[in-house]
Amino acid sequence: MSDVLNEYQGPASMDKISSLAKRRGFIFQSSEIYGGQSGAWDYGPLGIELKNRIMGFWWKEMTQLHDDIVGLDAAILMHSRVWEASGHVENFTDPLVDCKKCKSRFRADQIPEENLAGKKCPDCGGELTDVRKFNLMFKSHIGALEDEANIVYLRPETAQGIYVNYKNIIQSNRMKIPFGIAQVGKAFRNEIVTKNFIFRSREFEQMEMQFFVKPGTDEEWFNEWKKRRWAFYEKLGVKIDHLRWHQHGPDELAHYARDAYDIQYLFPMGWNELEGIHNRTDYDLSRHSQFSGKDLQYIDQETNERYIPFIVETSAGLTRTLLMLLCDAYDEEKVADKGNDDDWRTVLRFHPAIAPITVAVLPLMKKDGLAELAEDIRNELKEDFATDYDQGGAIGRRYRRQDEAGTPFCVTIDYESKDNGSVTLRFRDSMEQVRVNRAELAERLRKEIKGYKRIK
Ligand code: ATP
Repeated sequence: MSDVLNEYQGPASMDKISSLAKRRGFIFQSSEIYGGQSGAWDYGPLGIELKNRIMGFWWKEMTQLHDDIVGLDAAILMHSRVWEASGHVENFTDPLVDCKKCKSRFRADQIPEENLAGKKCPDCGGELTDVRKFNLMFKSHIGALEDEANIVYLRPETAQGIYVNYKNIIQSNRMKIPFGIAQVGKAFRNEIVTKNFIFRSREFEQMEMQFFVKPGTDEEWFNEWKKRRWAFYEKLGVKIDHLRWHQHGPDELAHYARDAYDIQYLFPMGWNELEGIHNRTDYDLSRHSQFSGKDLQYIDQETNERYIPFIVETSAGLTRTLLMLLCDAYDEEKVADKGNDDDWRTVLRFHPAIAPITVAVLPLMKKDGLAELAEDIRNELKEDFATDYDQGGAIGRRYRRQDEAGTPFCVTIDYESKDNGSVTLRFRDSMEQVRVNRAELAERLRKEIKGYKRIK
């Protein structure tokens, strides 16, 4: 592992990230015209592209590149007994305190010990209430009657949908242990405090993979998945000195878990969890077996052994990863020395595999057939790449707009393009420009994407 930093020292701040995200159509506050719905966010045109690509990158990594992992998309609404078996009804709580004076609400484990002990509000010094347990699951009712029998919860994690389908998948797809099931989907938590933009939301998305293993091999698989998940962030080109491991201590470790590590990222507000890798033992399947009355043992066809598999879980937030990548990619760079605002550019250095727009096609001028030629080239690239087309304003301005959206490549069409079919390919990170023949453009882009190495 590399040396890690203690404090965030980069150019990003949560304010800069959230204002860029709004200005460029990555993320908007939910229901903004009504004053906003806290803890809920809408992903705009660039945001949904980015989110889909992160999801696709993870999905490919988990399923296409692993023969022993298959996918699932389970329903959000599940039988309420699922959440009794999982322990969420009883234990999925956060400790809550309120300030009697300023009415602020805090998670008791997130305020300084002395405030908690002295029952003193960290904001206004007023008196705090006793600590109460607050269940984070959103609860509703199925059908017209609002009674206990009709309770339904919005799932607070995607994992349970995987556990209850484990037998279906073994039977339908003839999976043999060890194997994994991957799922991406919405999760809902009635979080007490939601700050730091989309970091902690009430509605968010998770990318989870549950790996089913033979008891006794769990430690080995746990270490293997730790390695693979770290390598995933390396592959994405994330700043390695902004990543570290955090092992759950005895106070944090769930009672059923044998071991648990978080991958933390150094966000502008400090080190915070990005993903958890957990050895969940046979707890989940044993509980579902017990609560459903169904035998969830695995039968090894070769040895006739029967056992409840252990589960190694990798659980990452999709929307939290998106925030991490915005922070990680954000840069401000001095590119001229004329003494005005234009000397600086804001650039998102996304890996081309996840950038919302991969290539922007820009005609130098609208006239003399350059716009038509540019549109023609854009149409050609469209089938294989996420493209954008922009013909408005000075070329330098247009490059800046693409830099700010994180577009790794711009293709500029000029008079020479008309004469000899060559175009200018401009690289976002180095701002270097090279001439490429139109016929070789797509291949060159593919090569650049595959061989991308972050230089700054
Ligand atoms: P915390 O203790 O911070 O509330 P957690 O440890 O309970 O979170 P997990 O249940 O392990 O989180 O969730 C797995 C992943 O899902 C987290 O690593 C995070 O990336 C994501 N996640 C969890 N809660 C939220 C949330 N409220 N908003 C966005 N992402 C979340």
